[in-house]
Amino acid sequence: MITTRNKTYFSEEGRQIPVTDETDVVVCGAGPAGIAAALAAARSGASTTLIEVHGCLGGVWTAGLLSWVIDSHDKPGIMKEIIARLDERGARTLRQEHGRGFAYDIEQMKHLLEEMAIEAGVRVLLHTRVVAIGREKDGHVDVVITESKSGRQAFKAGCVIDATGDGDTAALAGCSYDYGRPETGECQPMSLMAVVSGLDKDKVRPFVGGGMGVPKTRLLDEFKRCGQIPSYTAPTLFKIHDGLYGMMANHQYGVSALSASELSEATLEARAELHRIIAALRSLGEPWQDIHIVATAEQIGVREGRRIHGEYMIKIEDLIEGKRHEDAVCEVTFGIDIHSTDKKTSSDFASENKTRTQPYDIPYRALVAKGYDNLLLAGRCISGDFYAHASYRVTGNAVAMGQAAGVAASVISLSGKGAMEVQWEPISQGIEAINAAVAKAYPETNQEALSYV
Ligand SMILES: Cc1cc2nc3c(=O)[nH]c(=O)nc-3n(C[C@H](O)[C@H](O)[C@H](O)COP(=O)(O)OP(=O)(O)OC[C@H]3O[C@@H](n4cnc5c(N)ncnc54)[C@H](O)[C@@H]3O)c2cc1C
Repeated sequence: MITTRNKTYFSEEGRQIPVTDETDVVVCGAGPAGIAAALAAARSGASTTLIEVHGCLGGVWTAGLLSWVIDSHDKPGIMKEIIARLDERGARTLRQEHGRGFAYDIEQMKHLLEEMAIEAGVRVLLHTRVVAIGREKDGHVDVVITESKSGRQAFKAGCVIDATGDGDTAALAGCSYDYGRPETGECQPMSLMAVVSGLDKDKVRPFVGGGMGVPKTRLLDEFKRCGQIPSYTAPTLFKIHDGLYGMMANHQYGVSALSASELSEATLEARAELHRIIAALRSLGEPWQDIHIVATAEQIGVREGRRIHGEYMIKIEDLIEGKRHEDAVCEVTFGIDIHSTDKKTSSDFASENKTRTQPYDIPYRALVAKGYDNLLLAGRCISGDFYAHASYRVTGNAVAMGQAAGVAASVISLSGKGAMEVQWEPISQGIEAINAAVAKAYPETNQEALSYV
């Protein structure tokens, strides 16, 4: 033990870590971005390992009980396939007009993602956390190091995708990043999602869908009627199935996504608040007399973590201009959605949300960790500023980014090319054009499998 100034340190002994497996692609994190990345990589011919700390695939979709997908319309490839397969099992339960958002059955989503991963031949490792990165030279990741019930293990990879949401893998690799507002470092608040039952659909209809045609204050007024002012004063209730509803009613302010103790405290506070609110609502009687919490999320909803620096950074100007790119991998149509970072103005969203934006592209370069030849990013940790992140972060876009990163990772590992040597055709020409371009440039990838991507 060594004590310097006010801190005491324990020196861990050096040790050799077994290289457990060697695969073409390792995907870290199995949220909407990670699952899409793993499917795309495996289907385009790469042996693929998907590492996830929770006990299911889906990230905020499942462990986070989100149950609502935004910006998924017109997305080709895996998002379209997930929608079709949810529909086959009656698990896409509610659609917004113009197909811009939909609710889904959380348990069916879990099962579907597992099925798809198995079909694609993805090696899934649950209950396993990425804790370190091994590098033998600068700008190149050699092994991903994990901790689990199996102890500390190393996974050798030709290409690594960071889809951890918080950018854990890239940070461990030494990449630079931004966090929170540029002026203050403040982040968007966190919310713990809940699923509730015991509601009569006709009687609660006036309170369902806050912000989607129903005034947000209606549900808040009910909370006030039972003496509760929630920490998120624009709470929403939305239908998943008849009798089953999703609820977002709390905001945890000033919590760092990078601190286990802050995350723990926020989770305990949020869960206690949700139980308090629901019990109070129940005491009102009609239409709430039978409301019960079925589940609160195992993972508190983190809106914002690290934004890793990439070879291109998406900025607010790109959203205002509706910037297009030759190497586009995803078109974003969702605007800026900043939940107030200040408790005093919790009632609604930040004034920045009024910024007029136009549909814009995410370029492949925003998915390439700056200075790295085999480390890609997908999902909310890609390279962008605070405002751009508040727009592209929704899950329809995370899937499209994951898909692109997966194909690129497969190409990188199978061809031995560096991340910036990959040629990327514009997504606006459709997924067939991407497949054709990949097939032409990289004939060694699995052509038949690519047609599914
Ligand atoms: C409260 C809330 C409400 C939202 N509402 C909507 C909405 O209505 N619709 C919508 O489309 N989007 C919504 N969003 C945004 C959206 O959920 C996220 O931005 C989205 O989750 C991004 O997907 P992702 O795959 O990048 O990250 P995540 O879903 O966070 O997935 C990351 C995955 O990586 C895993 N992981 C993290 N670190 C490690 C590690 N070190 N080792 C191994 N695994 C790790 C996590 O367990 C997780 O499974 C909301 C977000 C929040 C928080």
